[in-house]
Amino acid sequence: MQILVVEDERAMADLLKRALQEEGHQVVLAGTGREGYEIARASQFDVIVLDVMLPGMDGVSVARRLREGRNQTPVLMLTARDTPSDIVVGLDSGADDYLTKPFSIGVLLARLRAVSRRGAIPRPPQLNCGELCLDPASRRVSRAGETLNLTPREYQLLELLLRNAGRAVSRESIIESVWGFNSEVTENTVEVFMRQLRLKVETREPKLIHTVRGYGYMLREPQES
Ligand code: CA
Repeated sequence: MQILVVEDERAMADLLKRALQEEGHQVVLAGTGREGYEIARASQFDVIVLDVMLPGMDGVSVARRLREGRNQTPVLMLTARDTPSDIVVGLDSGADDYLTKPFSIGVLLARLRAVSRRGAIPRPPQLNCGELCLDPASRRVSRAGETLNLTPREYQLLELLLRNAGRAVSRESIIESVWGFNSEVTENTVEVFMRQLRLKVETREPKLIHTVRGYGYMLREPQES
């Protein structure tokens, strides 16, 4: 693959370049956000490895500007911070995935493969319910045009409900899809997350998320009255 690495720390950049070249990839390095942005616009890459903390134009701004310019090259963001809001900002900006420093080269290579595969398929369509809108491509969620800041877990939960809009989703299948089969998560945890999600989503009338007693939850379009 042709890979653009945007990273200002020389040692890190050299390490990434060497590791990726050993895997047979072509690597171009950029040391600032501005340089990375210009190079990404000027030539075609299979994937961009983008550090968030860069002098001048930071990684989030680079990703956002590339997406605004209709550049859909898959972006794997490197972040030193791992608080959910930082990750959400990164993903909102159009990054396809992120990796928190420090990481192993093995994990980086696996993520790159996944991200570049995903980039080859067409961007998925937006999911809507009433005035609620979720864009899987940018991972932006909004209600009546206002962006909702969801954690990755809340996002997954809402995406599941949206994909099943108008259908009741059981707590069990929520656990399976959001936390995975072997998780220790209980139905109580689902309720806690659902409460958090509702606080963020149900900021205005009409109500969209409904409890299906003894079963689970359902997201549905407001009924005409
Ligand atoms: Ca940096």
